[in-house]
Amino acid sequence: MGDIHIGEAKENIARTGFLDVDVDPSLDLFGEIERLKKEKNAIVLAHYYQEPDIQDVADYIGDSLGLAQKAEKTDADIIVFAGVHFMAETAKILNPNKKVLLPDLKAGCSLADSAPPELFRQFKAKHPDHLVISYINCTADIKALSDIICTSSNAEKIVESIPVDQPIIFAPDKNLGSYLIKKTGRNMVLWNGACMVHEIFSLEKLTRLKIRHPKAKIIAHPECEEPILRIADYIGSTTGLLKYSQEDDAKEYIVATETGILHQMQKARPDKTFIPAPPDNSCACNDCPHMKLNTLEKLYLCMEYELPEITMDEKLRLAARKPIERMLEISAKYGL
Ligand code: SF4
Repeated sequence: MGDIHIGEAKENIARTGFLDVDVDPSLDLFGEIERLKKEKNAIVLAHYYQEPDIQDVADYIGDSLGLAQKAEKTDADIIVFAGVHFMAETAKILNPNKKVLLPDLKAGCSLADSAPPELFRQFKAKHPDHLVISYINCTADIKALSDIICTSSNAEKIVESIPVDQPIIFAPDKNLGSYLIKKTGRNMVLWNGACMVHEIFSLEKLTRLKIRHPKAKIIAHPECEEPILRIADYIGSTTGLLKYSQEDDAKEYIVATETGILHQMQKARPDKTFIPAPPDNSCACNDCPHMKLNTLEKLYLCMEYELPEITMDEKLRLAARKPIERMLEISAKYGL
């Protein structure tokens, strides 16, 4: 961080995405964050893909569905969202009267970015009789153009809840869409988007790793490409993978999703071994560069100064809220 005064850092926030000021290295950030939570009646919601320190200081850790449900129910005055932009936006859509903070506004999502609203509007116009189901990993603009939102935890049930004669567009993740077509037998029209983390796993390296660890089970997120899913022993949402790895009786797992989840897996089952699936890139890591833009320092600063804040046009918020409410209703009906 630069040697910049807080006033200047606030002015620069649209450009920097966060409060770029020095933090005293001797400060107990865990203690400070706990103090700020109490003083400001703030809750810290963190995604499983956040760095371990952030997970450890969070009041609630979850995947997109759990985080949206928690954001809807909280009575805190401030929601501090340690995740990426579309997640904090979802919290704001559900909580217009609460202050929603995101440690770094530039924490975006390659999947959400793969669906520009104007192109999606044109795509939708070509299929006028189709109902639009969008994965929650999309911008508020795409949500506003959708009929129902889903997450990887409830996607199957949501698709199955639609009458069989109703044609469907599924967006923006083509891998999750293809997986759902296989699982539900529904012939959906897919938007051609993907997550940069989940589409990078190398089948060749994974196969070699499996030879070295023959007893390890491969567990994968449905955002992964089809060849990876084909050899997986279990496919599930982030929460599903965590639960499976706790309850299953194997001792070793190769995990094909973002590495942040390994922290909770290892905490829950210190007796087991969790190996990240190898990606096909030179840095050999499965970190989401967007998720990892958030740091403990940025989290502390955003709570202290209540910036950066998520704001949204009210008309857009109301339009984006409807399909999220439908998702929450269907999820509640199925006890998800
Ligand atoms: S892991 Fe993929 S889907 Fe999740 S935030 Fe990162 S880019 Fe988006």
